[in-house]
Amino acid sequence: MKNFTYVMPTSLEQVVELLPGPRDLKTRDRVKVLAGGQDLLGELKEHLVEPEQVVNLKGVPGLADLRPQASGWQIGALVTLAALEENTSLRASHTMIAEAAGSVGSTQIRNQGTVGGNLCQRPRCWYYRHEQAVCIKKGGAECFAYGGLNKYNAILGGGPSYIVHPSDLAPALVAAGATALIRGKKGERTVELERFFTLPSEGAVTRENVLAPDEVLVRVDVPAMAGWKSTYVKFRERSSYDFALAAVAAALKLDGGKVTEARLVLGGVAPVPWRCEKAEKALVGRKLDAETCRVVGELALEGAEPLAHNAYKLPLAKGLIAKALTKLASA
Ligand SMILES: Cc1cc2nc3c(=O)[nH]c(=O)nc-3n(C[C@H](O)[C@H](O)[C@H](O)COP(=O)(O)OP(=O)(O)OC[C@H]3O[C@@H](n4cnc5c(N)ncnc54)[C@H](O)[C@@H]3O)c2cc1C
Repeated sequence: MKNFTYVMPTSLEQVVELLPGPRDLKTRDRVKVLAGGQDLLGELKEHLVEPEQVVNLKGVPGLADLRPQASGWQIGALVTLAALEENTSLRASHTMIAEAAGSVGSTQIRNQGTVGGNLCQRPRCWYYRHEQAVCIKKGGAECFAYGGLNKYNAILGGGPSYIVHPSDLAPALVAAGATALIRGKKGERTVELERFFTLPSEGAVTRENVLAPDEVLVRVDVPAMAGWKSTYVKFRERSSYDFALAAVAAALKLDGGKVTEARLVLGGVAPVPWRCEKAEKALVGRKLDAETCRVVGELALEGAEPLAHNAYKLPLAKGLIAKALTKLASA
């Protein structure tokens, strides 16, 4: 690990003051913010990032607040995954968020890992994580996974990079219609969480979200979901702790056994949480039977282009959708 200076500011003003300028794209990584450190410390030790300065967010008051509101929930960037998992009111109103948080890694990782860190964590693709592989995510010319070992990579939305977004929380928060409160040198802005994440073909290929170099994620606001039922269903290779091979966040409103509103977002299959709008529309007016699960699964995975080693994700994701819908039908 390269030496760096370590600072612990006590206000958001001080944090953004320490960050590079908004257009300082090439040297943005010379300052990194630290939350729980579950991802950043690994990146530092493996020389994936070599900042001159590390700015710990933990001295900023209020960032760890988890607040129920009449309009929903305010979730500060430093709220831990364990706090989301364990909050019984949140579990009752937004089951998929508590379930997604509870599916992350191990107890230790959930105790230490934060919402901001989970949403802003970097890809887990092993080419990206290999110090000597200068892949397209690290400013190189190509995505080595495309023609290489791509068992864990994207089947939807890939190109020119084929990473999958590693966050379990992201699909659940997108399905809940959450917004991100962002703070930069020019002040605050709000972005729908669905628009917070960027496809490699849309934004800078070396980034996964819209944060400018001078910006930090401050809070996630989740609207109330009265009358909705929801769940997060994840499949992982190792049951003790692991990232999703595929996952689904599903939320439904039902009336007399028929769906009146639906949200469906896939994890582990694309470089962003993958919203399945066609499938959501197809769900409305239907009963949750085997035929609905089949139709919705087909529509959700429409356009999927598996690579050499990950075609298994297609039936896997369809199966998880069916499992989630069946669970909600009997909830
Ligand atoms: C063994 C292992 C297993 C794991 N399994 C899973 C899993 O199953 N599912 C899953 O979702 N994750 C998994 N993770 C990832 C883990 O959940 C995340 O690394 C963790 O949540 C990150 O949170 P943190 O607070 O520790 O972030 P940090 O490591 O402190 O930060 C992560 C990144 O986000 C940036 N950052 C942090 N906070 C902010 C902010 N407020 N604004 C802007 N940028 C910010 C940092 O600069 C850094 O680049 C696993 C990690 C490990 C080590």
